[in-house]
Amino acid sequence: MSKRFIVLLGPPGAGKGTQAKMISEKLDIPHISTGDILRESVKKDTPLSREVKQVMEKGELVSDSLLEQIIKERLNERDCDKGFLLDGYPRNLSQSETLKAILSEKNIFDDVVALEISVSDDEIVQRLKNRRSCPNCGMVYNLVSNPPKKDAICDNCGYQLVLRDDDKEETVRQRLLVYHQKTEPVIYFFEKFNKLLKVNGNGTPEKILEEVLEKLN
Ligand code: AMP
Repeated sequence: MSKRFIVLLGPPGAGKGTQAKMISEKLDIPHISTGDILRESVKKDTPLSREVKQVMEKGELVSDSLLEQIIKERLNERDCDKGFLLDGYPRNLSQSETLKAILSEKNIFDDVVALEISVSDDEIVQRLKNRRSCPNCGMVYNLVSNPPKKDAICDNCGYQLVLRDDDKEETVRQRLLVYHQKTEPVIYFFEKFNKLLKVNGNGTPEKILEEVLEKLN
């Protein structure tokens, strides 16, 4: 199969993380989540990580320059030679331009496709309130539509599941606001380059994956 360079777009709670895991396994490409990289890096207690943590807890965007550094480093790792799936980057127009420059330099911008998973705001607020994540392996559950087998315990690794700080209702509403103002333009950025594929995000993860794979082919 040819190399795949995929940018996953859609509001927080659209199911990007779940789809990203499934798509990256299916296509055997690394799943690069800037949210996961940031959550991992703020576990260390440094002045910078404290600052970043505060920004994330408010549902705001972390600085473009830090993200540029993170994404450049990550895309230079060997496993990205076979393709990659970006989840959570780019988040605004400036990051879109940065990504275009990085990928153009690697001669792969022409091969990139952007996949938008669309879901309404009301549905998202309901979903995120019920979302529980594993702080150890990153598995994501929904107490209503995709509960763990044992109450609040990760099926995969046995860790206690948590409600992410930024999945609290007030933060979710702020993240949606930021999404509409800053991230939605990224969709039009890729559309302008004829790179946009759209998938309806309502339905089971398996059904959505089926539609994703159909669209990618
Ligand atoms: P996510 O898991 O993708 O929803 O990201 C969680 C939080 O990490 C976001 O609400 C932002 O505060 C931060 N974040 C993740 N990716 C980016 C990015 N590309 N640019 C700025 N902030 C980001």
